[in-house]
Amino acid sequence: MAAPSALVLTCEECGEVPHRVLSGRVAGTDAVVFQGTVKCSQCGRVRTVTIREDRPVDVSVIVSEDARSERGSIEFDPKELVSVGDRIDYEGRRIEITAIEVGERRVPASKAGNVRTLWAKRMDRVRVKFSVNKGNRTVSHELDAAPDEEFEVGDIVDLGRERAVIHSIRIEGGSLRRGSARAEDIVRMYGKLVRERTSY
Ligand SMILES: [Zn+2]
Repeated sequence: MAAPSALVLTCEECGEVPHRVLSGRVAGTDAVVFQGTVKCSQCGRVRTVTIREDRPVDVSVIVSEDARSERGSIEFDPKELVSVGDRIDYEGRRIEITAIEVGERRVPASKAGNVRTLWAKRMDRVRVKFSVNKGNRTVSHELDAAPDEEFEVGDIVDLGRERAVIHSIRIEGGSLRRGSARAEDIVRMYGKLVRERTSY
């Protein structure tokens, strides 16, 4: 394997900055090991380094979408921790891990290197719950949104024939009375019907 031309390394003076590789080689089977001479791109300090990186592992994943499911694999650093509820990118789409199989057991979290199969669901669209106060009653709506779509307190949401303003947004661990949240992080939004004024 050819040595890289540059590596991001920690320089005592400059912190994490690119280093030019002056000479070196890459070896190793279980891990990728680089040995060589590098030069800091900022202060110019030259030193020899040995860097060891674990080879990525391919973890098999079963992604479900509605009634269908498809099998594939995802590359991980073997030491990386994966947990149920993690959201990751998979073939250009967002998925959420719903179960982790290690051997015959299902566990809430594991190092990627020990995982036999990950189970996940597609997160391309999410349903955002929206409780709307309509005077004497509160009605729950569900909005269809992309996971990264932002909702902000004060936004006016179109509910078909009616419109409602967002008053607060509940997310895991708290409630927002200002600011915005991503659709995938929203537990529920609360709002109030907007009185339509007829203009002439
Ligand atoms: Zn430096």
